[in-house]
Amino acid sequence: MNPDSARAEIVIDLAAIRHNLRLLASRAAASGAATMAVVKADGYGHGALPVAKAAVEAGATWLGACSLAEALALREAGVTARLFSWLDLPDVDFAPGIEAGVDVSASSARELGRIAEAAQRAGATARVHLKIDTGLSRNGCPAYAWPALVKAAAAEPGVEVVAVWSHLACADEPGHPSIDAQAKRFQAAYEIAREAGLNPLRHLANSAATLTRPDLHFDVVRPGIAMYGLNPVQQQEDLRPAMTFRSSVVLTKRIDAGESVSYGHTWTAERPTNLALVPAGYADGVPRTLSGRMDVWLGGQRRPIAGRVCMDQLVVDCGDDEPAVGDEVILFGAGRQGEPTAREWADTIGTIDYEIVTGMYRPRVRRRYV
Ligand code: PLP
Repeated sequence: MNPDSARAEIVIDLAAIRHNLRLLASRAAASGAATMAVVKADGYGHGALPVAKAAVEAGATWLGACSLAEALALREAGVTARLFSWLDLPDVDFAPGIEAGVDVSASSARELGRIAEAAQRAGATARVHLKIDTGLSRNGCPAYAWPALVKAAAAEPGVEVVAVWSHLACADEPGHPSIDAQAKRFQAAYEIAREAGLNPLRHLANSAATLTRPDLHFDVVRPGIAMYGLNPVQQQEDLRPAMTFRSSVVLTKRIDAGESVSYGHTWTAERPTNLALVPAGYADGVPRTLSGRMDVWLGGQRRPIAGRVCMDQLVVDCGDDEPAVGDEVILFGAGRQGEPTAREWADTIGTIDYEIVTGMYRPRVRRRYV
């Protein structure tokens, strides 16, 4: 057993992942769409393989990864669902992915050419999703180059155009005018592919659009964050956050009024108080910017972090209550008991919950699945 295993752990509730995926897949199915569970970035910090298996069990027929390497790791671990990867380095060799039956994305003639060349070497047909940039201005083919890309793909013998796809910039702000503008450009790109004799699938919707825009589900939806139980939109949804970050008390002490805590002495006790030491710090994923601005859940209630979060530890002010060594400390969780959530952390430090959970893969922090 890892001697550090008791410091802090991430507990992943796979039943919550399955529940969330079922909810998303049922919305997709109501529009006749399939569901691609997005498991990139190690399953948003939840572990790509266990999440992929849970998602498939709950009805996902596709899995979405960022890189070919991420997709291949799943295939090599025995995942048989359809895999799609969409963002690779200019020098990546697509051949192992094509051989393993991973669908790949092309945003440019150069990328398409590299895929076709790899397909020829692999002696297989590459399943390609052509990406149109409809307004995010990230990857994807600009509209002015799209007809040529479609024509080249249609003429390429080693390539089967499986889908036309794109990604929304502001789906988490329902009603934002860019959503309809992007949808319109998407439809126009699809028409061009049809006119070139192709009959591709279409996919555009992330979690937010899966939840709020059934008219944009098309053939496949690509939810990520909502599968992990984090709701990207205001609309009330029965989503269950799957990740809990927990630790335990390793030392307790009492200090007098006027004594200060942690580096910089930024916190001073106003009266005699009991402190609990928790062995989790910024090296374990507790942002230092939460110092003095966040509570933990300890002994059935919220209690404030006293002073600065250190690299390996933080201190909790327990007032008159006497914590005991071994008491559980929840740093963030689903929020059901009143404990802080990843969203609360994100709001407090000015980021999004995506960044909190994806940042939780730390070598010192054990992951446990329940
Ligand atoms: N599709 C693509 C191309 C993405 O990059 C992402 C994530 O950023 C998703 C789908 C899933 O988005 P979300 O996590 O907002 O559902």
